[in-house]
Amino acid sequence: MAEVLVEATYVRHHKKKIALIFSAMRHFAEELKQLGYNVEYIHLDDPGNTGSLKGEVERAMMRQPFDRLLITEPGEWRLREELNTWPDQLGMTVEILEDDRFIASITEFESWAYGRKQLRMEYFYRLMRRKTGLLMTLDGEPEGHRWNFDSENRKPAKSKLDFPTHLEFEPDSITEDVLRLVEVRFNDHFGELRPFWFPVTRSQAVQLRDAFIERALPQFGKFQDAMLADEKFLFHSLLSSSLNIGLLDPLDLCRRAEKAFYDGKAPLNSVEGFIRQIIGWREYVRGFYWLKGPDYGQSNFLQAEKSLPDFYWTGKTEMACVSSVVTQTKVESYAHHIQRLMITGNFALLSGVSPQEVHEWYLAVYADAFEWVELPNTLGMSQFADGGILASKPYAASGSYINKMSDYCRHCAYDVNKKHGENACPFNFLYWDFIARHRDKLQNNPRMAMVYRTWNQMKEETRHAHRSSAAAFKKNLG
Ligand code: FAD
Ligand code: SF4
Repeated sequence: MAEVLVEATYVRHHKKKIALIFSAMRHFAEELKQLGYNVEYIHLDDPGNTGSLKGEVERAMMRQPFDRLLITEPGEWRLREELNTWPDQLGMTVEILEDDRFIASITEFESWAYGRKQLRMEYFYRLMRRKTGLLMTLDGEPEGHRWNFDSENRKPAKSKLDFPTHLEFEPDSITEDVLRLVEVRFNDHFGELRPFWFPVTRSQAVQLRDAFIERALPQFGKFQDAMLADEKFLFHSLLSSSLNIGLLDPLDLCRRAEKAFYDGKAPLNSVEGFIRQIIGWREYVRGFYWLKGPDYGQSNFLQAEKSLPDFYWTGKTEMACVSSVVTQTKVESYAHHIQRLMITGNFALLSGVSPQEVHEWYLAVYADAFEWVELPNTLGMSQFADGGILASKPYAASGSYINKMSDYCRHCAYDVNKKHGENACPFNFLYWDFIARHRDKLQNNPRMAMVYRTWNQMKEETRHAHRSSAAAFKKNLG
């Protein structure tokens, strides 16, 4: 196992993300040693560390020659393509093993996708429900006679709700060593390192999992899309980083959530909603990533070319919603789905930021970000950069959606009820400007028909006011 500089810096990952991964690696190496495995562990600062995975394999070969290398398939095309060059460059057999921490293999997803005109997640999700038997009755029907309870899962939250306390794990001496290393070597990376609370071992991840199922899962569904400025985590599980680095098994996690439903401890809309995120979205985006190939990352259907505004790094903007999510991201290396999709993602989409810059930002700033999951979510779902292969319409929304689902607007310098002109909420005029700008590309999308009808019926002077407010705002952006 090797901590290598290339992997820690090919994007400038959040300090907490680097600390999480190095600490989890060091803890895992110790556990393996305790079990009697022979582990060679290379620390970032070890003398001679070449800084790359291939360099460390070469050094290992010099220490003790070997002629065959077994390695688990990586989570990014970048590394996958590099691995393909290793047999020639290293002069040995390189066997790439399947990553068995997923419910569907890459080839299983390919077979499902083969010949389909549309790759909608919902149909893949039903296949995964049947395959795992999760929330299926003995007659092979979905529990509650419906596959999907999303319509019950869109409630805004009130700050008076009884939110579960969030488990925090004290850094031990291994983590402290890593934190000191990150302080010195990655001090110029984005984000705050301390306080550091992430689970770094399987047993800590299990504690977080059990606490989530007991305390938060019952309300998870109902308030899944809600946002509150003073409640960063609401009823979310915070388990994505533990799942993605392999501390938790997704199927086991879903079976435990399912048990909570059959034991009468959590309602069906919550449990189905949670299971769908994991065996549906999570598995689907991974299959999609590998299916679409390395060029998918260059998609830019809407030809968005603007630079990412500086406030994505500083949080310094008058827009209370964006400022709150970026600041939370800086502190926690975490934001929940709707914050990512409907605040930072939505703003970048409406203002025409290059999807590649948006992608680099998401990959860098979140502790759970690995390209196989982050790229389809960012490019496909959030930025509509693939023209609608992953999402059936752009996730674009004006200030009224944000106002309905959050309390950000109450503390904002802008007026969410004002549509254009001075002090108007930027999401309002940027939304209509987006609709007008991409008319040629979007107006024939049946899911956009109503929006274009509204635009067509709007008075010419109102349309003009939206567009000139947007032009003035965008001129000052960045
Ligand atoms: P919960 O709300 O508790 O959900 C439970 C689990 O479901 C999550 O832990 C996660 O494993 C899974 N899940 C939920 N939604 C998705 C989804 N859309 N895709 C895949 N898995 C999902 N998730 C990542 O794991 N890594 C990323 O890099 C990432 N980047 C994203 C970028 C954008 C622009 C968007 C819109 C979403 C992204 N997501 C990513 C999906 C989702 O936002 C996170 O998985 C979720 O916020 C993690 O918080 P949680 O564990 O509290 O999730
Ligand atoms: Fe965000 Fe607009 Fe609400 Fe301000 S008024 S918090 S910019 S949606």
